[in-house]
Amino acid sequence: MIVAPRETSMSGESILVVEDEANIVRILTMYLERENYRVIVARDGEQALEQFQVEQPDLVILDLLLPKVDGLEICRRIRRQSFVPILMLTAKKDETDKIVGLELGADDYMTKPFSPREMVTRVRAILRRTRHATSLPIAEGILDFGDLRIDVPKRSVIAEGRQVALTAKEFDLLRALASSPGKVFSRDVLLNQVWGYDYYGDARTVDVHIGTLRKKLEMQPSAPRWVKTVWGIGYKFDESGVALLQNGE
Ligand code: CA
Repeated sequence: MIVAPRETSMSGESILVVEDEANIVRILTMYLERENYRVIVARDGEQALEQFQVEQPDLVILDLLLPKVDGLEICRRIRRQSFVPILMLTAKKDETDKIVGLELGADDYMTKPFSPREMVTRVRAILRRTRHATSLPIAEGILDFGDLRIDVPKRSVIAEGRQVALTAKEFDLLRALASSPGKVFSRDVLLNQVWGYDYYGDARTVDVHIGTLRKKLEMQPSAPRWVKTVWGIGYKFDESGVALLQNGE
């Protein structure tokens, strides 16, 4: 009899489980595979970092108490290079680890013993949230809006015949907005999109950069043609390029 392989690895998102307790690994693997996730296991901190590089998982379940490199250090190292969602596991009642972990950029945590069912629910929720956060299109190539031409590969901008010299962040901000003309972006979404998922900055960072972007881009920064304020929400790119007076800006 030929046993068909279980359909787990091809279409599913991959999850790196970093845990040294065999029992927990076994249960997590069983529950996650049942949901069609592809499970990669690392049993210590060194393996975790190696596997992370090789497999580029969609989510990491990370136990904090591990041999060799501890979980918080792994979290820190992963965050230096990636916005991948991290769900921490902790056996401790100690709040400090959770707080430090969350400050280091973990997305959520669960305290042992946990229900594997709840774990799967959390994994699904985090993946849904991060897919949503990263699903906004970012344009490649040349964005041509008549008087405004944004050349993404060259990172050059020409507005009303002038070459506009933008900083990296100003350019990324303009590119993010102009990739979805008319769409209103909240400051938080722009922070995620331009500064990254783990950036713990003030939303006013966005306002400051919008301000400097407008000064360079717009002929009349107080009556911007392209980068417009949506009161109480955030900003949008207006491809029609009709100047609109922004009170007090
Ligand atoms: Ca452990």
